[in-house]
Amino acid sequence: MKDLRSETQDSLKEALIDLGEKAFRAKQIYEWIVKGVTSFEEMKNLPLSLREQLGKLYYLDNVKISEQFKSEDGTIKMLNVLKDDEVIESVYMTYKHGQTACISSQVGCKMKCSFCASTLNGMSRNLLAGEMMGQIYEMQNITNTRINHVVIMGSGEPLDNYVETLKFIKMACDESGLNLSARNITLSTCGLVPEIKRLADEQLQITLAISLHHPMQSEREKLMPIAKKYNLDDLMSAVDYYTEKTHRRVTFEYALIEGFNDKDEHAHALAKRIKGKLAHVNLIPINSVKEKEYYAPKSHQIKRFKQILEDKYKISTTIRRELGSDINAACGQLRNQHISDVIS
Ligand code: SF4
Repeated sequence: MKDLRSETQDSLKEALIDLGEKAFRAKQIYEWIVKGVTSFEEMKNLPLSLREQLGKLYYLDNVKISEQFKSEDGTIKMLNVLKDDEVIESVYMTYKHGQTACISSQVGCKMKCSFCASTLNGMSRNLLAGEMMGQIYEMQNITNTRINHVVIMGSGEPLDNYVETLKFIKMACDESGLNLSARNITLSTCGLVPEIKRLADEQLQITLAISLHHPMQSEREKLMPIAKKYNLDDLMSAVDYYTEKTHRRVTFEYALIEGFNDKDEHAHALAKRIKGKLAHVNLIPINSVKEKEYYAPKSHQIKRFKQILEDKYKISTTIRRELGSDINAACGQLRNQHISDVIS
């Protein structure tokens, strides 16, 4: 059986013609998918015979929310059970500018960033584009709201699942689908240099966020093993290429860890590393993960770090307002754990 939510309107049209059906049915089916229906019975304007036929070829319920954890700030972490019983997490957040979905792109992650819970059990498999869409559909169903921003920052390295991630972005921006603005989609990567260049060539208007976390090569390697494969100089060249192709400002994510990368010297080194780039820095006081001994710096040091970047180097900098840290939904805290682990 195939995942119906991974079909585009065009691929559906072809499949229906092969089945001897009229092409206009593709539009009808696609509209139901986008409405987030989870059964073929709900597709009321299709003849019963077609609904039955679809039910034999496709499944629709690719993602089922099994648990929800609500934060005091309105953030909701959702456990999604996939068709093969794998479990992923997604997070619903409310900001001034609307509803944001943080979605996963893989079951777990193999990148082994030392501060991240998503990688603790390795990576089981890539998600299909339809399973990324499914996280949004289910989120909309449960909250009765419309998602207008998406961050691909849940478990997984999206550029390690390049084909399905790109398909997801195109589906999410499809005018007859969710119709999201590409500018409202942020893709976060630990720094896969060839894929960043490949993405640049697509010339999409999405926001690229680079998980940088340290301005010095040897120290970054301790935090992020991928840095051994793609060094900082190559990563910065890929970022320049991305900007040149897309004219989009790149965000550098910088998790502040007390005693590791939070000193004045690090702020200066960071500024020198990204000087002259069309860039923004997002400082993220690290969220503790119980298996790791990382702590966020004191708030005066966080403010000082920001001030150095802004006042001395004129680099646009924000401190991320963390949502959902009381339910382990904040950055670096997502994991592919089963429900029993969460409850225990
Ligand atoms: S930070 Fe991202 S790339 Fe690194 S291990 Fe976690 S999910 Fe993977």
